[in-house]
Amino acid sequence: MARRRQIYEGKAKVLFEGPEPGTIVQYFKDDATAFNNKKKGTITGKGVLNNRISEFLMMRLGEMGVPTHFLRRLNMREQLIRQVEIVPVEVIIRNVAAGSISKRLGIEEGTPLPRSIVEYCYKNDELDDPLIAEEHVTAFGWATPQELDEILALSLRINDYLSGMFYGIGLKLVDFKLEFGRLWENEQMRIVLADEISPDSCRLWDVSTNEKMDKDRFRRDLGSVEEAYQEVARRLGILPESGPADLKGPEAVQ
Ligand code: UDP
Repeated sequence: MARRRQIYEGKAKVLFEGPEPGTIVQYFKDDATAFNNKKKGTITGKGVLNNRISEFLMMRLGEMGVPTHFLRRLNMREQLIRQVEIVPVEVIIRNVAAGSISKRLGIEEGTPLPRSIVEYCYKNDELDDPLIAEEHVTAFGWATPQELDEILALSLRINDYLSGMFYGIGLKLVDFKLEFGRLWENEQMRIVLADEISPDSCRLWDVSTNEKMDKDRFRRDLGSVEEAYQEVARRLGILPESGPADLKGPEAVQ
């Protein structure tokens, strides 16, 4: 990896200055954290897989007209993205009850929700990303009402597309988290999908067995964490059948 000026280091990714103005290199680490940094570990090969999975999903979403920050994958662990101003709101879209909504509202995990539910959290590690209402987003100026409308519309489109796509490969999209950013182009600002979409940010359950194929395997010490991430990539058709050994060389990714 060429040495570039580091802009930011997060829990699972590092951002470096990109080769051209307005671009950033997003580097995917194997580090895993849960419960807001209280649990830390490493998932071998996760960075390589998430780079590839997120590339694949962002490209498919881009093809159907969802604007994203993604430009192109550079190598096994890095992708080139557009520099955006991140909206400090995490958007959570839920189709099936799991995780915090189950705990908060006493709904048994696995219960299908009457309709997709969108929640917002304030992106602030010190506060543990608290759940907020739309009112907070607009009152505190984290996004304008128009931006929030756009974010909601995009989130629902993304949910429809991804739910169908994952169902087609035998995975239930239980819930997931999205982040959006502002991108300026010729004095015009638009909202684009940012960050990543991967088994770190989605709950994916096998359709027939309900087996968890996502970061909950790490959060809940279920074992076979690496294998679950590999299986998601394999079902998406972006990991050769021969498995993880192929991840060592660049020929593992098309
Ligand atoms: N999520 C995430 N980052 C966060 C919080 C949640 O990617 O900081 C994802 C998480 O992987 C899950 C969904 O958002 O797919 C809903 O998470 P939930 O609110 O249930 O929180 P958790 O139970 O993970 O603490």
